[in-house]
Amino acid sequence: MGYQIAIDGPAGAGKSTIAKKIAGKLGFIYVDTGAMYRAMALFLMNKGIDATDAAAVSLNCKDADITIRYENKEQVVYLNGENVNGMIRTEQVSNMASVTSANPDVRKKLVQLQQKLAADADVVMDGRDIGTCVLPDADVKVFLTAGSRVRAERRYKELVKKGEECDIDVIEKDIIERDRQDMTREISPLTAADDAVLVDSSYMTIDEVADAIMKMTAKKS
Ligand code: C5P
Repeated sequence: MGYQIAIDGPAGAGKSTIAKKIAGKLGFIYVDTGAMYRAMALFLMNKGIDATDAAAVSLNCKDADITIRYENKEQVVYLNGENVNGMIRTEQVSNMASVTSANPDVRKKLVQLQQKLAADADVVMDGRDIGTCVLPDADVKVFLTAGSRVRAERRYKELVKKGEECDIDVIEKDIIERDRQDMTREISPLTAADDAVLVDSSYMTIDEVADAIMKMTAKKS
C-alpha cells in the first residue's frame, strides 16, 4: 500500500485546493471523491430520477459506469465514456449529489472505486468519509473546516469570477443545508475521524494550510 493522506470536511472548506497543492508538492495522485458523487448525481438527474426515491436511485446507480483517468496530471471523470468534468460543478448537481450520496448502493459502488485507486499509488484523497471509512488506516488524516459565511464568500467569489449571477445569502443557506444532510445521514456521515487533526481554515491562507499538512506528512514519513 502506498502513502495515504485523507482530507475530509464540509463543502467549501478548501479541501480540493489544498489536496491538489499537496499532491503536486509530493508527486502523489489527487483523488477528488466529491467529483465521483457529482458524476453519479448528474447521471441520475439526466435520467429524471427523483433524488428522494431511494429504490429508483439504488436500481439506476448500477448503470452508471464512472471511471477516473489522469490527463495532464488532472483528474478527469468519465461517465459512461464521456468526460463530464465540465458538467458537474453546477449548484443543481451539488444539491442533487448531497441527497443521492446518502444512498447505500451509491456509496458502496464509489467507495470500492476509491479504494481501488488508492491500492497501488500514493494518494491525497479528499471527501467526507475518507478518514473514517474509505482509508481508515491513512498515514495522515485532516479534518478541514471553516465557518459557513467564510465558505459562502469563497464560493461567491468563484462564481462571480466565472461571470455567474449569485446571491451570497442563498449560497450560505445551500452550504448549511448540504452540511446538515452530510452530517445527519445514516451511512458514513460527515464527521472527523478520532485520529484526524482538526484544521480551521477560516483565517488561514492556502499556503498556511498546505504548510501545516506538509509538516504532518514530514513527521510521519
Ligand atoms: O466535495 P463536493 O462538494 O464536490 O461533494 C459533492 C457531494 O458529494 C457532497 O455534498 C457530499 O454529499 C458528497 N460526498 C460524499 N462523500 C464523499 C465526497 C462527497 O458523500 N467522500
